[in-house]
Amino acid sequence: MDTRVVKKKLGLKDRYTAMTRGLHWDTSYQPMDKVFPYDSYEGIKIHDWDKWEDPFRLTMDAYWKYQGEKDRKLYAVIDAFAQNNGQLGISDARYVNALKLFIQGVTPLEYYAHRGYAHVGRQFTGAGARVASQLQAIDELRHYQTETHAISHYNKYFNGMHNSSHWNENVWYLSVPKSFFEDAYSGGPFEFLTAISFSFEYLLTNLLFVPFMSGAAHNGDISTVTFGFSAQSDESRHMTLGIECIKFMLEQDPDNVPIVQRWMDKWFWRGYRLLTLVAMMQDYMLPKRVMSWKEAWEMYAESNGGALFKDLARYGIREPKGWKDACAGKDHISHQAWATFYQYGHAAAFHTWLPEQSEMNWLSEKYPDTFDRYYKGRFDHWAEVQKTDGRWFNQTLPMLCQVCQVPMMFTEAGDPTQIDFHETTYHGMKHHFCSVHCKGIFEDEPKKYVQAWLPVHQIYQGSCYPDDINPASPGDSPVREVLRYYGVNPGEDNGDFSTSPDRSNFAKWRGDKRKPGDAA
Ligand code: FE
Ligand code: ZN
Repeated sequence: MDTRVVKKKLGLKDRYTAMTRGLHWDTSYQPMDKVFPYDSYEGIKIHDWDKWEDPFRLTMDAYWKYQGEKDRKLYAVIDAFAQNNGQLGISDARYVNALKLFIQGVTPLEYYAHRGYAHVGRQFTGAGARVASQLQAIDELRHYQTETHAISHYNKYFNGMHNSSHWNENVWYLSVPKSFFEDAYSGGPFEFLTAISFSFEYLLTNLLFVPFMSGAAHNGDISTVTFGFSAQSDESRHMTLGIECIKFMLEQDPDNVPIVQRWMDKWFWRGYRLLTLVAMMQDYMLPKRVMSWKEAWEMYAESNGGALFKDLARYGIREPKGWKDACAGKDHISHQAWATFYQYGHAAAFHTWLPEQSEMNWLSEKYPDTFDRYYKGRFDHWAEVQKTDGRWFNQTLPMLCQVCQVPMMFTEAGDPTQIDFHETTYHGMKHHFCSVHCKGIFEDEPKKYVQAWLPVHQIYQGSCYPDDINPASPGDSPVREVLRYYGVNPGEDNGDFSTSPDRSNFAKWRGDKRKPGDAA
C-alpha cells in the first residue's frame, strides 16, 4: 500500500533561509575570530549577526535563472545591433567619445568591484552579508563582461578603445577612477561596503548610470542602453545592500556611529570628485543632451540625498562634510573639467573639441549664473586661437591632488577665479590637495595616501617611457614618448575631433559631404 506523503513546499523566505544561513555553521576546531579576522580590526562592533536583514533574498538557482534570461536578451540585442550596423545610427561620431571614457574608466571599476566583493564575501562573520557580497561579486563580473561585449562592436570602427586596460593602469585621468577603487578595496570589509555599496551605489549611482544610459538612448546607441537596463536591475539589489549595511552598523553599537560618519565624509567626497568625469561627459560630450549636470545633481543628489540624511539623523548621522561644497560645485565642475581636457586633448585617449554655437547657447541657458560669466570667454578665446595659430595644447603637466588625483582645476568656494589649493607636510615632504576635504582625508590616513601612484609624478620621474628611449636626449619629445608608452596613437586616438579619422570615417560611411572644420 502506498503511503501518501504530503510534500510541504517551503515559502520563499524559508527556502532562502535554508539555502543560505542554514548552510552556515560556527567553527569548533578554531575560534570564529581566527577564521574571520577581518571584520573586527576596523573597530566596528557587531553583537548579533542574526539582526542582519538580507537584502537580496535570492538563492543561487534562482539567481542563475534570472541572470541567464537577462543575458540571453542582452546578447540578442547586441547581435542585432552589430548585424544592422547600428553604429551608423548614432547621433554623431563625437558621441563615441563618451563610450571611450566608459570602457577606459568605468568598465575596469566593475572588475575591481568583482574582486572587492569576492574578498568581503569571504570575510564577514555573518552568513547573510557573505551571501549578498558573493552574489554581487558575480554581478560585477557579468557587468565587466557585458560592457566589454557591448562596446567591442564600436572598437571595430572607432579609435580610442583598443588598449583600455593598459590605459586604465597608466594614463593620467584614469588614475582618478582607479585610485578610487583601490582605496576602497584596500580598506576593511565594512569600509569597502560603505564606500562602494553605500556612497557609490546607494547615494551616487544614478548620477553615473542615468547620464550614460539616457545619453546612449538619446544618441541612438541601443546596445549600450540594453546593457544599462540589464545592469540596472542588479544595481537595485546593490543599493539595498548599501543601505542595509549602514543601518546594521549604526544599530549594532553606538561606538560605530563616529566611524561610519568618518567613512561617509570620506567616501561621499571621493565619489563626488570621481563624478567630475561624468559631469563633463554629460554637459560636453553628448551631441544630444539629456539634462545638465546641474539638473541631475539637483534631482538625484540634493532631493534624494537630502531625504536620506534626514532619515539617518535618528542614528546621530549628519550629512557628509563636503555636502555643501559639492552642491555649490554643480555650477562649475563640468566646465572646469572640459576646459582641462581641451588643453590636454593631445595626451588623452579620446577626442576633445570646442562646443558648437548651439551647444554654447544650451550651456548659457542651463548655467545662467556661471557659464557666460566665467567659462564661455575661455572657449571663445581658444576658438580664435584655433583659427589663427592652429589648435593649442598645453605642453606642461598639471599638479595632481594627492588624494583624488584630479588635476588642480577646481576653484575656491565663493571665488571661481581662484584655484583651490591646499598643502600639508608629512615626514618632511609636501603634499598638495584640491580641497580641504581631500586634505582632511589625507590627514586621517597619511600612511595610505603617501603611497599614491600619481601619473604626473611618475612621468616626471621617468617611469612612463618606453625602454628604448632616453627622453632627455636632444630631439626626443617627452610627450611623444609617454604616448608611445601608453600605446596611444597621436592624432588617431586623441587630438581635436575636427581633424580625427573618427570624424572623417563616420562622415564617409554616412555619405556626409561636409569637410573637417565644418559644424558637425
Ligand atoms: Fe556593476
Ligand atoms: Zn582632491
